[in-house]
Amino acid sequence: MAWGVKKDSNSAELKSIENSLKQTENAKKEMIYQLGEIFYDANRDNEGIDDIYKDKVDTIKKLEYNLNVWNNRKLKSQGLRICDNCGNPLPYDSSFCNKCGCKLQPVQEEPVII
Ligand SMILES: [Zn+2]
Repeated sequence: MAWGVKKDSNSAELKSIENSLKQTENAKKEMIYQLGEIFYDANRDNEGIDDIYKDKVDTIKKLEYNLNVWNNRKLKSQGLRICDNCGNPLPYDSSFCNKCGCKLQPVQEEPVII
């Protein structure tokens, strides 16, 4: 039946089109992500940006803070912390860095509510 043949060729074409759609959607998402990163890096101080962006920038800053908190807690579970100045891993209860000599600040361990 002609319909069956047409369906097979359509199926291959459809697969190719769906593949192109998926690739294009992914490329668009990647560009939007990159645009967001560029915008965030340029506006992380939240100065002079429109209100519609402010909440997003604030939320990303809180997420960055919380990422730091969870990394600190992960390190603490291993008895470690990181030097605030040089990033050197140290025993958790250190007061000074044994690499750069920096006095260590208390570790942030409480996530902020978002
Ligand atoms: Zn250090």
